[in-house]
Amino acid sequence: MSDIESADQEPELELPAFVIEAARSGRAKCKSCRKAIPKDDLRLGVMVEGPFGAGHMWYHLTCAAKRLFDKVQEAYEIEAWKLAKVPLSVDDVPPLAELESLREEAEKKKVDKKELPHTELAPSGRSKCKHCDEFIEKGKARVVVGREVEFGQQTRTTPINVHPACVADALAAEDCNTEPDGFAKALRANSKGVDAAVIDAVIEEIGSLY
Ligand SMILES: [Zn+2]
Ligand SMILES: [Zn+2]
Repeated sequence: MSDIESADQEPELELPAFVIEAARSGRAKCKSCRKAIPKDDLRLGVMVEGPFGAGHMWYHLTCAAKRLFDKVQEAYEIEAWKLAKVPLSVDDVPPLAELESLREEAEKKKVDKKELPHTELAPSGRSKCKHCDEFIEKGKARVVVGREVEFGQQTRTTPINVHPACVADALAAEDCNTEPDGFAKALRANSKGVDAAVIDAVIEEIGSLY
């Protein structure tokens, strides 16, 4: 409950379902990006009933726009900035259309980010197979799988390109986190915009993964 700041200590005061305010402290963390919300930054509070009573979960207003635009819309409908402890005026908050364009951008990014594994035709001859280190010919199918890379304390998946014939060995590598189980099925589902015949040929070239 540490990241739920009680909006008020008076129990008889009903918390609004949404509030938009300038952060009163820099202590609350954004539930979406998990970073602290600096004091005075605009934040959206979404009321939640916890074991210790009702409180607000906080989001950077911009993060909320990307992740929970419906709630932002509702908050705008009730003019949730008027419900802040220090009420704001409509001029203090960005126009809803601006927040909606953030959401659209975020959604576009999600679509552009293809799931792993997938296959695609190499747009140039400049990419190398991360397994055998040979160039992948322009227009030839390459397979994109995931490799675990450590960034400080975090482990992230980074996409790597490999020749179809190198997939079996690439998946066997310790730092590869793409599973051989269901590989062909996943490849078909994730390779959007690629001819089914191309995908079939790739799967044939990949051969057995075990
Ligand atoms: Zn955030
Ligand atoms: Zn290769």
